[in-house]
Amino acid sequence: MTLYRFASGKNTSTEIKNASIEDRKMIIDTHAHIGKVDKFNMPEEILIESMNKYNIDYCLVSNIEGIEFDNDQKPIPVELQRSQKEINKAAINFAKDYPTRIGVLLWAKTSTEGCTKEFENMIISNRGVVYGIKFHPYHANTPFDSLKVEEYIKLAEKYDLTVVVHTAASSESSPREVYNMAIKHPGINFVMVHMGLGTDNEEAIELISKLPNLYGDTTWVKPKNSLKMIKKCGIDKLLLGTDSPIDGVDTYANQFYQTYFNNFKNVLSPEDYSKLMYKNAVRLFKLPVE
Ligand SMILES: [Zn+2]
Repeated sequence: MTLYRFASGKNTSTEIKNASIEDRKMIIDTHAHIGKVDKFNMPEEILIESMNKYNIDYCLVSNIEGIEFDNDQKPIPVELQRSQKEINKAAINFAKDYPTRIGVLLWAKTSTEGCTKEFENMIISNRGVVYGIKFHPYHANTPFDSLKVEEYIKLAEKYDLTVVVHTAASSESSPREVYNMAIKHPGINFVMVHMGLGTDNEEAIELISKLPNLYGDTTWVKPKNSLKMIKKCGIDKLLLGTDSPIDGVDTYANQFYQTYFNNFKNVLSPEDYSKLMYKNAVRLFKLPVE
């Protein structure tokens, strides 16, 4: 399966095969979601609609319904939770409906379920659409640098998947925890999404600069901080991410993201801009793009 720019609808995998390389410049959002739980409401149709509206070619999605604790870290009642298998199956089915637009990061329910044979089987049976494992240490109330997480990391190693981690100011989500895990597992690539949400990003940038297998994404990161990051860590270390459609169909209209899409064309060289918009994502997640 190969991705082509402007593949518009369901199951359209072979459009514009003969477009020139120039025409095939893409935008890949490595941090998007689906799912409805607690205060989150991100229907699949809204994500697709927003991708079409803002010319986003491809998204890596994780299902937010994997959260086990709410915003105040109160446990989500069991009757309101769906199983690790169900939520990831929903994301996989979505990707199978839109094979040229959507890939999956499996959500790890580290607190209430853990790494099971069933989870491994989901990876094995869906190699064509699964590109990584997503951890949310805050909404799982599980420190990233813990044994529960370690078991999933072994699977990432076994199946050559990228590990994507929510990082923030809170202790269990601290960039330092991801750094510790990345030192222990030099064969796996780790992405600190948000580069420390609610911080000045300095700690995350410092840590990313120290290890070859640590990356950052732009989700809610001020563009000026991303420029600092690029300067210190190199353009190859930064991925485009947005949390779309967390603020609805127009999440991409946010001033931060518009700055990345538009102003960065003038700030970065064409090659570096392409790396941020899609080339780094293709390389890191081994996406099937020509
Ligand atoms: Zn997110």
